[in-house]
Amino acid sequence: MKSDRKIKILRFARSLAYARDDKKMDLMDKIISLAKRRGFIYPGSEIYGGLSGFWDYGPLGIELKKNIKRQWWKNMVYDRPDVVGIDAAIIMNPAVWRSSGHLDAFTDPLIECKICHQRIRADYVDLKKEHEKIHQGKKIDWTEPKSFNLLTEVLLGTTEPKLKAYLRGEITQGVFVNFQNVVNSTRIKIPFGIAQIGKAFRNEITPGNFSFRSREFEQMELEYFVKPNEKEAEKLFEFWKKKRMMWYVKLGIKAQHLRLRDHKADERAHYARFATDIEYNSPFGWKEFEGIHHRGDWDLGRHKLTYKDSQTNEEYTPFVLETSGGVDRAALFFLIDAYHEENDRVILKLNPILAPFKAAVFPLLANKKELVDIAREIYQSLSKNYYVAWDSRGNIGKRYYSQDEIGTPFCLTVDYDTLSDNTVTVRFRDTTKQERVKKENLIEFFTKQLHQTSI
Ligand code: ATP
Repeated sequence: MKSDRKIKILRFARSLAYARDDKKMDLMDKIISLAKRRGFIYPGSEIYGGLSGFWDYGPLGIELKKNIKRQWWKNMVYDRPDVVGIDAAIIMNPAVWRSSGHLDAFTDPLIECKICHQRIRADYVDLKKEHEKIHQGKKIDWTEPKSFNLLTEVLLGTTEPKLKAYLRGEITQGVFVNFQNVVNSTRIKIPFGIAQIGKAFRNEITPGNFSFRSREFEQMELEYFVKPNEKEAEKLFEFWKKKRMMWYVKLGIKAQHLRLRDHKADERAHYARFATDIEYNSPFGWKEFEGIHHRGDWDLGRHKLTYKDSQTNEEYTPFVLETSGGVDRAALFFLIDAYHEENDRVILKLNPILAPFKAAVFPLLANKKELVDIAREIYQSLSKNYYVAWDSRGNIGKRYYSQDEIGTPFCLTVDYDTLSDNTVTVRFRDTTKQERVKKENLIEFFTKQLHQTSI
């Protein structure tokens, strides 16, 4: 068990990870508070004091994540005849990780403070400086950096010694080990892609910045296989960089908050020939959103897999271009980018396609049966196609504000005019403008509105 003193130091160091810029820290605190208060993201196993690097998604968080994943899958799989999807197991034969090089090279540099034994990532210069402040007056002695493997071990089986396996550190290997299966069981031909969304686990040395760096997270990845022609591969690498960047912009991230950053040779992962990060200008600095990698023939080569062209009989080891984004980072950055304050109102200006609720339905008064009945009918009919909120409590202004704060793009109010002209008030989140729409045209209205924002 850690001593109280160590725990305090640990907490202090974590809190300092946010404390670069007071104004921005304020924003991060607001996001964390909103996420918990309204049911987006909770600390994992909170009632037992939490567990560093683990987060739970609440009723709205799960919707946001599902919507992100749905849009990704639509854009990367359904819109592309050259891409198919798979869903591989999280735990694989440990030989996979030996072949892929992860057992040797999936590491981060770790240093330990010789005074309090706090361990941090050696390349986190800011955190190192902040830690040095904790021991004011004393000269800090850090151990030499040592390579710390990020794979999370699990023990399987009933007899001793149990089989040591690993929770996957990246979802990618599940695609490579199924490369032959996919080629044999589909009509797909090179160039083609295999897409996957799923959980990955890393025993991160320093989890932090809310859910940004977690130990359990979800990735959404495309592995795109091409002939081993360097020029063609580089062209496609450029194509995927632009395409992935545009995806975030079209879904609402402000273009000026994104940039591409090429990795220098000494920071590339062991498998990468080239690597470029899409970075987001977060309250804690420019941070990786998604990695685009040219993995060459590293992985298929290591797994001794080749491709045979059925027409030319040519056999070769394809090159792989990878786009690898994090679902949790996307959820966090979409929340941060959408957060707005206007006068006394907080608005999450999420793209409606990502918003947890597409609409909220209100009867003007909860105790007027005629109004409640019509509102219920509308709620039920919209719910067949969309996730819709219901609220009949308190004053209408408060109900609007409550929906603005969670990003609901449209609020529908059934009022006394509804009884006479069969219309409802539709109120738009971002402008607060109101429009009366015929009850029977509501589905068409929403389909049109959402179509405009879809990508
Ligand atoms: P970082 O440099 O931030 O550690 P990485 O380069 O190790 O990230 P990749 O291996 O390229 O990340 O993983 C692809 C994507 O998976 C990242 O761009 C990120 O969105 C997501 N991801 C990676 N590690 C984490 C983590 N610990 N917590 C949340 N998401 C992560």
